Amino acid sequence: MNDLEEIVYKHALLNAAKHKGSANPGAVIGSIMSQEPDLRSRAKESGPIAGKIVAHINKLSEDEQSAQMAKYHVEVKENKQKKEEGLQELPGSHDNVVMRFAPNPSGPLHIGHARAAVPNAEYVKRYGGKLILRIEDTDPKRVFEPAYDLIPQDLEWLGIKADEVYYQSDRFEIYYDYARQLIEKGAAYMCTCDGATFKELKDNCKPCPCRDNSVEKNLELWDKFDQMHAGEAVLRVKTDINHKNPAIRDWVAMRIVEETHPRLGNKYRVYPMMNFSVAVDDHLMGMSHVLRGKDHLANSEKQKYLYDHMGWDVPEFIHYGRLKMEDIALSTSKALEGISSGKYSGWDDPRLGTLKAIARRGIQPQTIYNLITEIGVKMSDSAISWKKIYGLNRNFL
Ligand SMILES: [Zn+2]
Repeated sequence: MNDLEEIVYKHALLNAAKHKGSANPGAVIGSIMSQEPDLRSRAKESGPIAGKIVAHINKLSEDEQSAQMAKYHVEVKENKQKKEEGLQELPGSHDNVVMRFAPNPSGPLHIGHARAAVPNAEYVKRYGGKLILRIEDTDPKRVFEPAYDLIPQDLEWLGIKADEVYYQSDRFEIYYDYARQLIEKGAAYMCTCDGATFKELKDNCKPCPCRDNSVEKNLELWDKFDQMHAGEAVLRVKTDINHKNPAIRDWVAMRIVEETHPRLGNKYRVYPMMNFSVAVDDHLMGMSHVLRGKDHLANSEKQKYLYDHMGWDVPEFIHYGRLKMEDIALSTSKALEGISSGKYSGWDDPRLGTLKAIARRGIQPQTIYNLITEIGVKMSDSAISWKKIYGLNRNFL
């Protein structure tokens, strides 16, 4: 048997075992196409081979089939186990799937970013959708300028190419426009309370006095916003002041930032908060599905209030568990600190969890891509060991 015949043979044995000794050629091809992506281009030649092999296997007794299974190390796995592996089908419609990878430009990409980027890329490929790369640079403190170039390079290493690229720092006027619309609808208000006073009220489910100001008064304050100092006022989105999670009560949409922005300089002082710019952009960019870590569950809930105020359809939000990796420093700020102090040799220091460090260890991008795809987007946490990575990597060398 050649390679292709052997793979068909194994799938046919498995199919026969699942169906009382009688395999079906169509089902065998289906299982090969779904589980052996490398063979998809050889679908045509697999058909006749599957026909012949299935006919042969179906003539064997069940004992002979079992013996063949043992010989070729074919095992029937429990269905349940299988379903938990890999990327499950996306909920909702699969027409016009639009998804995004949206990192802060705080450093080069690390394995945690790959955990976000790979499933988005893979789903878009599966459903013929569109992948957007959105650089979320609305907090000057979290911008490391070289990252603007490093991020696309790292994505390219992973074999991921975005269909469209956006920088949130280009979109401030859009955010202002929607902030104003929210104020006009009475769905957002300018809050001039100091942080501690507001917190005290909010934690006791009490609205602050600003919440009842008229739209006119709010617009007047909004127009003066960019002459205020940090902390003097914020724009809040109205939610439920009795919400069981205090963090969700009337969250901040806009604030004053006085730092200089690497791309914008001092052009703007009024900056959107992450939940605001993310929700506006996800809507405007037509996002159908949003994948995010489960540490963002409360953020998804915050953002839903904005969608409701604006009358927008909410995308499908899918949350996934944390990814742990042994012996690896994952924090970008700690990595940067260590590089500046000389503790690490650079972004590719093998003790770091950056993709550059992983590449330097001789790990192939396909290893990371496949491993992340296999982990999928389940809610439970996952751990990756180097043993597993090196094991998978051997297949690609
Ligand atoms: Zn207030």
